[in-house]
Amino acid sequence: MRRKLAAGNWKMNGTSAALAELNTLASIHPTPDVDILICPPAPLLSRAADATAQSQITIGGQDCHAAVSGAHTGDTSADMLLDAGATAVILGHSERREDHDERNEDVRAKARTAMNAGLVTVICLGESLAQRVAANTLDIIAGQMSGSIPDQATGENLVIAYEPIWAIGTGMVPTLEQIAEVHDFIRVRLERRFGEGVGRSVRLLYGGSVKPSNAAEIFAVPNVDGALVGGASLKAADFSPIITAL
Ligand code: 13P
Repeated sequence: MRRKLAAGNWKMNGTSAALAELNTLASIHPTPDVDILICPPAPLLSRAADATAQSQITIGGQDCHAAVSGAHTGDTSADMLLDAGATAVILGHSERREDHDERNEDVRAKARTAMNAGLVTVICLGESLAQRVAANTLDIIAGQMSGSIPDQATGENLVIAYEPIWAIGTGMVPTLEQIAEVHDFIRVRLERRFGEGVGRSVRLLYGGSVKPSNAAEIFAVPNVDGALVGGASLKAADFSPIITAL
């Protein structure tokens, strides 16, 4: 059975004062059946790892470079994330695809490096509103999957987050039927490419305006194994009930 995963993406939010939220979160949980991952901004990683060392919370980065090391000013390598105490990394978030022109092949190269380093990769997929309206969602997801996911993916090193771009930070959420359709589609394609064993063990997260008020109904959708949460992961008081709803 797949373990449930509640993942928080702090994006470019939080300075050292935000570590208090991690301390609060660590004191509220354990929730034995749920994995909890928080992805703070890179400068906070090692302090976040220290703050959560005695808890069930794990820490992840929000990006890493495809190269192992070298002349890449401003970038962070997979080994640096591990060294700072991270065990996972988000890759291919739509904000990085948009802000940094990341293409599927860039995400795939980063994922390959991250997996080789021993990080769990949370690869993000999702359609724009125009693509959804044009009924292209499943084609877009299929292309992102084949382009972004490297061949060495396993149930341990790969998590997929389905994040419709139009649902991120907007308060708009797909219908439960729409979420189910995309998650089922991702599951079937994973099984077809990697075989049933791997395909059934990869965890699929939904992301986009997940809140305490809608978490339970989203988590009841088949093939939703958890959430990748942005705004509502910043405060322990918001994120904790989402974890509990899993
Ligand atoms: P929100 O939860 O703020 O909509 O963000 C979702 C997201 O982009 C997580 O990666």
